[in-house]
Amino acid sequence: MKQEKMLSDILENEQVPPSGRGTQCVDDDCLEELQDTDTSALSDIAGAVCTMLEGVGEDPEREGLIKTPERVARSMRFLTRGYRQDPEEVLKKAVFTESYDEMVLVRDIDIFSMCEHHLLPFFGKAHVAYIPDGKIVGLSKVARVVEVYARRLQVQERLTQQIRDAIQNVLNPRGVAVVIEARHMCMVMRGVEKLNSVTTTSAMSGEFLSSPSTRSEFLRLIKP
Ligand SMILES: [Zn+2]
Repeated sequence: MKQEKMLSDILENEQVPPSGRGTQCVDDDCLEELQDTDTSALSDIAGAVCTMLEGVGEDPEREGLIKTPERVARSMRFLTRGYRQDPEEVLKKAVFTESYDEMVLVRDIDIFSMCEHHLLPFFGKAHVAYIPDGKIVGLSKVARVVEVYARRLQVQERLTQQIRDAIQNVLNPRGVAVVIEARHMCMVMRGVEKLNSVTTTSAMSGEFLSSPSTRSEFLRLIKP
């Protein structure tokens, strides 16, 4: 494993955004996210939230709730902004030819997603590894792909596979492995499971499937 050297090499190769477009933001679509201009979608959601407030027995006109429909609409659009982004395009922006052929692992990527069955959050960590076959990708883009898929309505199983497939499709590496560990508020808050239950899903391809030693190296490296 030459992971640390890889990290600095790849970060140096990352494209730098034009100056004057914000200091924290390294992704070109970040500013766009701050100002949602789809007024028709926003007002549809706000109308539905208003109805929902009445449905739970609230008065949408009372002071504390007066701006809630609009706030929830903006929040919901933000939390589902992954629908308006193409994960494979995100990856393609930072693919480099490189002869490095050991496992590349990005671990402990924070994920915040929403379950499509209850519209409640689930959150945790994703660990993503691949074994390059002539091409590598900027490490921040691996995290961005996780983010794009997580910011949609999801089930954890599909989220895990979509991340694997996007990396497999764009880089055509010798193998991809993805593990996600997450806590689901629909289980915790509704009292279905114990407070600290964690759901683990995995999706693998190529050498991670065919080589037990590669797979166990990956699993050993992501152990807390
Ligand atoms: Zn759920």
